[in-house]
Amino acid sequence: DLRDWQRPLRAEFPIIVDHPDLAYLDSAATAQKPRAVLDAVQTYLTTSNANSGRGTYPWANATTTLVERTRDRVKEFLGDPAPDRSAVHFTSGTTEGLRTVARDWLPAVLTDGDEIVVPFADHQANLSPWLEARQLLARQGIHIAVRPLPYQESSGDYDPRALADIVGPRTRFVAATHVHHVYGGDMNVHRIRRVVGPEVPICLDAAQSVGHLPVSVADLDVDFLVFSGHKVLALPGSGAVWSRGTRGPRLRPGGWSGTPNTAGIAGLAAALDWLDAAGLDRIERWTVALAARLTDGLHRLSAYEVLGCPLSLPAGSPVQRRRSIVTFRHRGVNSNDLGFILFSHGFMVRSDGHCQAGAAGEEGSVRVSLHIHNTPEEIDALLSALAKLQ
Ligand code: PMP
Repeated sequence: DLRDWQRPLRAEFPIIVDHPDLAYLDSAATAQKPRAVLDAVQTYLTTSNANSGRGTYPWANATTTLVERTRDRVKEFLGDPAPDRSAVHFTSGTTEGLRTVARDWLPAVLTDGDEIVVPFADHQANLSPWLEARQLLARQGIHIAVRPLPYQESSGDYDPRALADIVGPRTRFVAATHVHHVYGGDMNVHRIRRVVGPEVPICLDAAQSVGHLPVSVADLDVDFLVFSGHKVLALPGSGAVWSRGTRGPRLRPGGWSGTPNTAGIAGLAAALDWLDAAGLDRIERWTVALAARLTDGLHRLSAYEVLGCPLSLPAGSPVQRRRSIVTFRHRGVNSNDLGFILFSHGFMVRSDGHCQAGAAGEEGSVRVSLHIHNTPEEIDALLSALAKLQ
C-alpha cells in the first residue's frame, strides 16, 4: 500500500511536520528538504569544509572527493552508463545551466543561416539564453533563425505537426522541456528525437522532472539535460548540466573554474540518495495520483478552469501526460486574490504568471505542485475550500 510507504517519508521533512496546519503545494517553485539533506550539509560543514581541487590536507581532499563522487552520482541518477564523469558540470541551477549551454557551447557549433528550435511558451529560463546567443552571433555577422516550438493545449504536448514543419535541413539544435512547469504535461521527447533525427543535439530543461520520476538520459536520447538542486530536495544554488560525452557535445568549462558550491553539492548527493531509497517510480505514482485527484475534483467545480493539459486521455494512451503539477483559474476571482484566500486556509500555492515566457501582462493562474509529503487529505481539503468559493 503506497500510503504505508508514504507516511514515514513525510515524517522526514521537519518543516512539514512542524507545520501541521499548513499544506505546502508549491514544490515546483522549490522543494522542501528531508532531514537527511539537512544533516549531510551540516555534517560536511562541521567535519571537512574546505575548497575543492586545491590543497592536499585531508579536508581539501575530502571535499575534492565529494565533488568528484557527486558527479558520478548525478550521472548514475540520470541513467548515463558512460564512465566519463566530466559529463556533469555543476551550476547554480537550471537558469544558469541553460545559460551555460547557450553561452559556452552553442555559438561555436552554429554558422550563418543555421536554425535552432526553442520553446516559446515554457519557462523564460529556456528562452532568453537562446535569444541572447542569437544576438551575440548576429553581432559577429552570423545570422541564425530561431523557430518557435509551439505548445498544443488539446494534447498537453508540443504541437506535433508544427514540430515537423519547423524542423529542416538547417536545424542544428533543439531546446525543449521535459515536464511543463505550468501545464504539468510530460512532453514527448522521443517524438522530438524521431522528428529531428539522430544527429541534432537536444537540450532538455528537466527542472520539473528530475526528482519526480525516473529520468534516463539514455532512454530520452538527449544531449544536454539540466536541472536544479533546490527542486530535487537539495539546497538552492546547486544544480547540474549533464552533457553526452561519447557521441555528442561536451560542455567544456574553461581551464580554470572557481569555487563550486561544495555545501550544495553535499546536499545534492544526499538528496539523490534519499530519492533513490524512497523510489522514484513510487514518488511518481503517488504524486501523479494526487494531481489526478485534484484535476478530477476541479472538473466537478464549474467555477474553475484547468489549464493546458487534458483532464483525461484517450483510452489506451501510452503516456500519462500530466505529472505532479495542476494549474487552474477561477472564472470570477482574480488568481492573486485566490492565492491569498487559499493561504488564509493554510494552503501555499503559486499564483502569478509562473515565469512563463510570453505570459507577462496576462492574467495569472493558481498552480498546485506536489511532492512526496503531500497527502490525499490535503487535496480534499483544498477542493472543499475551492468549492466554497464557487
Ligand atoms: N525551467 C523550469 C521548467 C522551471 O520550472 C524552473 C523553475 N521554476 C526553471 C527552469 C528555473 O529554475 P531555477 O530558478 O532553479 O534556475
